[in-house]
Amino acid sequence: MTKRFGGFRAVDDVTLEIGEGEFFSLLGPSGCGKTTCLRMMAGFEQPDSGAVRLGSRDVTGTPANRRPVNLVFQSYELFPHMTVFDNVAFGLKIKRVGRTEIEARVTRTLESVTAAHLAARYPRELSGGQQQRIALARALVNEPGVLLLDEPLSALDVKLRKQMQQELKQIQHRLGTTFVYVTHDQEEAFVMSDRIAVMNEGRILQVAVPREIYERPATRFVADFVGSLNVFPFRMDERAAGLATMLVEDGQRIVAKLDASGRAATHLGVRPERIRVQLAETAEASATRLVGVVESIDYFGTSTRLQVATAAVGVVVCESANTGTAVPEQGERVSLTWDLDAAFGLPPEDAR
Ligand code: ATP
Repeated sequence: MTKRFGGFRAVDDVTLEIGEGEFFSLLGPSGCGKTTCLRMMAGFEQPDSGAVRLGSRDVTGTPANRRPVNLVFQSYELFPHMTVFDNVAFGLKIKRVGRTEIEARVTRTLESVTAAHLAARYPRELSGGQQQRIALARALVNEPGVLLLDEPLSALDVKLRKQMQQELKQIQHRLGTTFVYVTHDQEEAFVMSDRIAVMNEGRILQVAVPREIYERPATRFVADFVGSLNVFPFRMDERAAGLATMLVEDGQRIVAKLDASGRAATHLGVRPERIRVQLAETAEASATRLVGVVESIDYFGTSTRLQVATAAVGVVVCESANTGTAVPEQGERVSLTWDLDAAFGLPPEDAR
């Protein structure tokens, strides 16, 4: 699909294939085109070129209300003057579904989102999380083939948001409905999704399972967007047995795997939490080894982040879980090492 607004390409030649029953997320910064993609899937927006297919059916020209698809918005938009039950029943009444069937479907749906006990309440009598569940029930009661969710948890506080992430995931697993979920929060996408598409500037940069997105990001943008990252320029001084070595002063070195075609990357990415920090005097021997001085220490409760100044590659950010073992102090000389698998090759710069 491609979608322009005036001369601006909000969605630029995006191709996605989403599996039946999958929890699929579109992840990217504000304005990257996620919502526009979702609205084209829903039928609220028409692509300028391209098509939307559902199974073997081309639904590109089909209006939103005729697609077996429902969209859950960021703002829940519950009807304030109706009870929870009537809010959920509303769409079925419009479709002239019989009363006994409405009763059964609404009850079943409210049970599936653990909100049966709220049926008689009005929206103003509900917490944010409860309102969110009702908004979800209102979409699910239509038994859509695909449920589209646009940042549905963004109005909730952090604790509730985490709880709702788990609940949404469980509901999705239980019902087996295909979920397409839009978020700019990488942790949310990681926790919930089977697969993630990372977007920027209207384009898809990578589609993969969460672990691959994090550990083998396709571009620098992806690597950076989903976590913090050290990037080192890499120079191959020696090669042997599928490995490239960059020699630095005093026996320090960085060892990296060659890629499938036997080439060394021009840049390496290493996540801060994959770097082991030990006092320089007592450090164990290892293939990759850099030496530096601790410049700053940030304590985060579950982890501690160190900035280590090295002569070889500048400042390296390291993050270690707080497991009760001693953390080096500011000004101390430390040795940095990481496993071969912790480093991934990156292009010199992203094309866009
Ligand atoms: P957010 O996370 O902020 O919602 P998003 O990734 O969902 O962002 P979109 O809402 O898809 O982004 O918007 C993509 C781009 O298209 C933005 O630059 C936006 O300003 C522009 N855009 C979206 N809808 C319209 C419209 N109806 N008219 C003009 N420009 C639009």
